[in-house]
Amino acid sequence: MSNRIPLMAGNWKMNLNHLEAIAHVQKLAFALADKDYEAVEVAVLPPFTDLRSVQTLVDGDKLKIKYGSQDISAQDSGAYTGEISGLMLSKLKCTFAVVGHSERRQYHTENDELCNAKVKAAFKHGLTPILCVGEGLDIRKAGQQVQFTLNQLEGGLKDVPAEQAETIVIAYEPVWAIGTGEVATPEDAQEVCGAIRQRLADLYSQDVADKIRIQYGGSVKSGNVAAIMAQPDVDGALVGGASLDADEFVKIVRFRD
Ligand code: PEP
Repeated sequence: MSNRIPLMAGNWKMNLNHLEAIAHVQKLAFALADKDYEAVEVAVLPPFTDLRSVQTLVDGDKLKIKYGSQDISAQDSGAYTGEISGLMLSKLKCTFAVVGHSERRQYHTENDELCNAKVKAAFKHGLTPILCVGEGLDIRKAGQQVQFTLNQLEGGLKDVPAEQAETIVIAYEPVWAIGTGEVATPEDAQEVCGAIRQRLADLYSQDVADKIRIQYGGSVKSGNVAAIMAQPDVDGALVGGASLDADEFVKIVRFRD
């Protein structure tokens, strides 16, 4: 048994305006308040425009729910129209910043070099990066999923020192399973998450690797989460579509019930 606290994070993608965000987080907080859920860390990852509202609610009501951004600029400030910096996100008391989600890699051509700069920007401003890695369908069909994912991992972590790396969250998200309803089998998830932990041990040390939380993401739902979470190297879930339904997300958070 590891001491890693599972992290269940809801990636809302480009959904829920700031008013809907408040109602949604209130619903989550209410549903999770009747039981001690300290054994599971719960986070929401709303669009940038919701973060201030979520912060006000979490601060005001002293909620245990954490929150973070879906992206972060590699820059601190300046002439970067449309970008949001780690400085701004830490001012909003974000805990997490997602880096390298496959939708950003696909639609915004983010590569490992940029992801690496974003990981460093997050650490610089006291945020915990959730670094997303994972293969597309062609790579999976060619049986190259482990090598491909480990290359992304190494690219994202280049020159990141052990004392920072041990706090990062890695999200293994096979692209073919994201938003498709096609979830990886628990064995598929374990194969790659186990290889990620082994590579982290090689890059840093076993001690560091044992501290790092590795999430699985890709069509996680209340009906499949328990089997995935039972895998020894899966320490949480990054949940997209199912996190938009508060009742369903609560069931995912309560995967042990
Ligand atoms: C995601 O957006 O990170 C994700 C895993 O989406 P979904 O759960 O909808 O597949």
